[in-house]
Amino acid sequence: MLREYCLERKLPYDECGKLVVAVDPGEVTRLDALAERAAANSVPGLRRVGPAEIRDLEPYATGLAALHSPRTAITDYVAVARAFAEEIEAAGGEIRLNFPVRRVTPAPGGGLLISARPPHRSAVAPSGGAAAAGGDVAVDELIVCAGLQSDLVAGLAGDEAGPRIVPFRGAYMRVVRAKADLVRGLIYPVPDPRYPFLGVHFTRRVDGSVEVGPNAVLATAREGYRLADLSLREVYGIASWPGAWRMAGKHWRTGVREIYGSLSVRAYMRAARRYVPLIGAGDVVRAGAGVRAQALDRDGSLVDDFRIHRVGTVTAVRNAPSPAATSSMAIAEHVVNILEEQRQ
Ligand SMILES: Cc1cc2nc3c(=O)[nH]c(=O)nc-3n(C[C@H](O)[C@H](O)[C@H](O)COP(=O)(O)OP(=O)(O)OC[C@H]3O[C@@H](n4cnc5c(N)ncnc54)[C@H](O)[C@@H]3O)c2cc1C
Repeated sequence: MLREYCLERKLPYDECGKLVVAVDPGEVTRLDALAERAAANSVPGLRRVGPAEIRDLEPYATGLAALHSPRTAITDYVAVARAFAEEIEAAGGEIRLNFPVRRVTPAPGGGLLISARPPHRSAVAPSGGAAAAGGDVAVDELIVCAGLQSDLVAGLAGDEAGPRIVPFRGAYMRVVRAKADLVRGLIYPVPDPRYPFLGVHFTRRVDGSVEVGPNAVLATAREGYRLADLSLREVYGIASWPGAWRMAGKHWRTGVREIYGSLSVRAYMRAARRYVPLIGAGDVVRAGAGVRAQALDRDGSLVDDFRIHRVGTVTAVRNAPSPAATSSMAIAEHVVNILEEQRQ
C-alpha cells in the first residue's frame, strides 16, 4: 500500500533491496527458518544466496549465506507524513500540533472531551509549527496512537495499565561520504528471535547517505533522544512496573552488551565490521538517535506483536512495533474495520 501511495504521490521510493546476512554457522539455521516464514508470507522475489552472490549484490559485504529481498525499499518518511497531513486537511480534517492530551472525560451531551495542557517550551516544534495550544476537543470516537506515550494516553481514556511502554534509545552512526558508496542497499543481520529489533545494520537513505545502527539501551526518559535526557518521574514509572524488573532479570547480559556498544564506537563498529569489513570506527560519525517504544507485559515479556484495545468508544493502539511506519496504511484500515464492525 505504501509503495502505491509513494508512486501515486510522487514521493521518494527506491527499491534498493535488502540482504539479511548470516556470518556464522549458527545463524545459517536461523536464516533458513526466516526464509520459510518469508515464503509462507509470500515475500516477493526472495532468494537465498551464497558468498559469491552476496558479493555480486553488495561488493563490500561478507557472509556465509544471505536472504536477498529485491523489493525492499526506502522512502522519506517525513515526506510521507506530510502527504498524509495534506490529505487529512484536504478532506476537511484538522491537525492540531502541540496538543499534549492530559485528560479524557465524558462530554455532557455524549461522546468524549479531550483536554490538552499547554505544551512544555521544549515540546514546541522548532520549525515554527503550530502555535502552542491548549484547550478541549469534543469527539464521538477516539483512536489513540500515542507511540511512546500510548500506555499513558490509553490509561487516561480508561484502558488497563498493561502493556507498559519502556523506552529504548538507539543511537546511529553515519558513514562518511567517502565510504558511503560501499553500501548499495540495506544490509541486516539475521534477527535473534528473542530480540528481533537488536543487531547493528546498514541502511541506505534516499539522500544517498548510509547509517549504521541502532543499538538499544534503556532510556532515562520516554522521549530521551539525548543521552542526558532524564525524567525521574518516568524512571519511577518504569521501575514501578513489575514487568520491568522481570525483564531486567531475564535480559541483563544483553543489556550490558548494548550499553558497552553505546559508549564505545570501536565496540559498536566491531559488530558492524562482520558485515562490511572496510567500514571501521574511523569511517563513521555519530548521527541521531531514535527511541523505541518497547511494550512490556506485567510478566516481563517483550510484546512483539500489535496490540489494539477497545474500551467503550476508545480504540487504543497500545503496541505498533516496527515495521508499523511501513504498514501504517494497513493498520489504519484494520482499525477502521474494527470501528465499522462495532457499529453494525
Ligand atoms: C530507531 C527506529 C527505527 C525504526 N525504523 C523503522 C523502519 O525502518 N520501518 C518501519 O516501518 N518502522 C520503523 N520503526 C518503527 C516505527 O517508527 C513505529 O512502529 C511507528 O512509528 C509506531 O507508530 P505509532 O503511531 O504507534 O507511534 P508514533 O509514530 O510514535 O506516533 C505517536 C504520536 O503521538 C504523539 N503523542 C504522544 N503522546 C501524546 C499526547 N499525550 N498527546 C498528544 N499526542 C501525543 C507523538 O507526538 C507522536 O506524534 C522504527 C522505530 C525506531 C525507534
